[in-house]
Order: sequence, then structure tokens, then C-alpha cells
Amino acid sequence: MPLSTLCQRCGLCCDGNLFSSLPLRRSEVAPLERLALPVVERSDGTPALEQRCAALEGRCCTVYAERPEACRSYRCLLLMALSEGEVSLEEALAVVDEAHARIQAMDALLPPGDARAPSAVLQRARRAGLPENGGPLPPRAQESWEQAELWLNRHFRGRHRRGQ
Ligand code: SF4
Ligand code: SF4
Repeated sequence: MPLSTLCQRCGLCCDGNLFSSLPLRRSEVAPLERLALPVVERSDGTPALEQRCAALEGRCCTVYAERPEACRSYRCLLLMALSEGEVSLEEALAVVDEAHARIQAMDALLPPGDARAPSAVLQRARRAGLPENGGPLPPRAQESWEQAELWLNRHFRGRHRRGQ
């Protein structure tokens, strides 16, 4: 099915590049903790699932049948465009490939991450760009980061944000 073909090639809404957390219902906390998925508390006291999601393997969800409501209901701009016939599967896959290429280009310009606790490339870029971490980023890295974020904003994020 084209929609699942697209998501299986993408994984960006689970791997921490689009979002750093997703909102949970209180009733979802215990079942997720039983699956050993780390639940965090947002500044407003509400529970959230950290991203990169620990249930993601490659670009697939390993707890698909038990995933939270925010995952079930989420559709990025690109997926909506595909489901409404605004873009073909081929065009949508090309957008996903370009997103991954921009993220990979950014990765090559950042100091290596912690292999024991992998975080998304764009989260590492955001952290590395903070003044307390020696930021701002060097001009080439800054430009590469902006190019990646621009692509994600234009094709994926839109108004249907599920986290920050
Ligand atoms: S970001 Fe969109 S296309 Fe990618 S996996 Fe999530 S819903 Fe699917
Ligand atoms: S539970 Fe599954 S669908 Fe939800 S963020 Fe994690 S990997 Fe993605």
C-alpha cells in the first residue's frame, strides 16, 4: 500500500529529526513503561514519549499494535498530500530521500554522537548550536542545518505538530 510504503522508507516522525517528543495520554504511560519505552514529563507536567523513539528499529515501529494514539492519528503534510492524490508515490519517495540526504549531509559536519544513546542528527545540531555548547555552528554546518530544517518544515511539519 503506498501510504505504508512511504512511511517504511521515511521514519522521520519517529527518529527524532522531526520532533523531540510526542504527547501521551495518562492511560498510555503504564503500558509503554511495561514495553520499556522511556516516558518523560514535559514542563507543563504532561507525559511524553521521547524521540528518537526507543521502539524504532531501522525505519519500522516494533510496537506497532500497541503504539500510542498520537502515533496512530499522526499524518505529516507529505502523507496527507499522498493520500489526497496531490503527489504520486514516486514524488513523495523522492521528497523523503531528499530529506534523508540533507540530514546525512548535516551529520557529516557534526562531531560524532554518543553511540550508546543515539539521538537524531537534527537534535544534535540544535544542541551543538547552543552558546553553552560552543555554538553557533560553523557557517557550513549552520547552512546545512538550515537547509535540512527548511525541507522538513516545508514538506513534513506544517500545522500538525505532535511535539517540539
Ligand atoms: S514523517 Fe510522514 S511519511 Fe514519514 S513516517 Fe511519519 S507520517 Fe510517514
Ligand atoms: S511507538 Fe512506534 S509509531 Fe510511535 S513514535 Fe515509537 S516507533 Fe514511532
